[in-house]
Amino acid sequence: MPYTHILVAVDLTEECREVIQRAQALANSSNAKLSLINVVEPMAMAFGGDVPMDLSMLQQQQFDQARERLDNFAKGYPELTPEQRHLAYGQPRQEIHRLAEEQHCDLIVVGSHGRHGLALLLGSTANDVLHGAPCDVLAVRLKHPI
Ligand code: AMP
Repeated sequence: MPYTHILVAVDLTEECREVIQRAQALANSSNAKLSLINVVEPMAMAFGGDVPMDLSMLQQQQFDQARERLDNFAKGYPELTPEQRHLAYGQPRQEIHRLAEEQHCDLIVVGSHGRHGLALLLGSTANDVLHGAPCDVLAVRLKHPI
């Protein structure tokens, strides 16, 4: 069965353009719809979730900047309409799964640095997204392992 709706998770780095290319090729060959998602992680998460101050204004700024970055990034893909570019706020795994379900996506495409050993213990988004995913997941191996 060909895929009908492919969701590409992007961290807005140059290397994730490779991930989009792979997803685009798949979408073209199966005549599928393509959507992008970028997840902004709440600042409080970076501080371990317990910050004794109000971060709401900073978080709004963070979100507005992310919207601008996503729009600039997507300029390279004029075929993607604004409705196909999603910005979410929260934990990447959770938000990617939520949107995939909501949009009835049948494939999620993420980049993978192919980490192993200790680096893998520290976690990777690709690994995280795979667990409990509501549909198939394709991890595109990125050329330059970190
Ligand atoms: P990482 O394991 O964090 O190096 O990220 C690997 C891949 O996960 C990236 O190439 C993206 O496909 C995806 N990814 C990482 N962070 C995000 C994010 N904040 N929003 C959406 N996708 C992400």
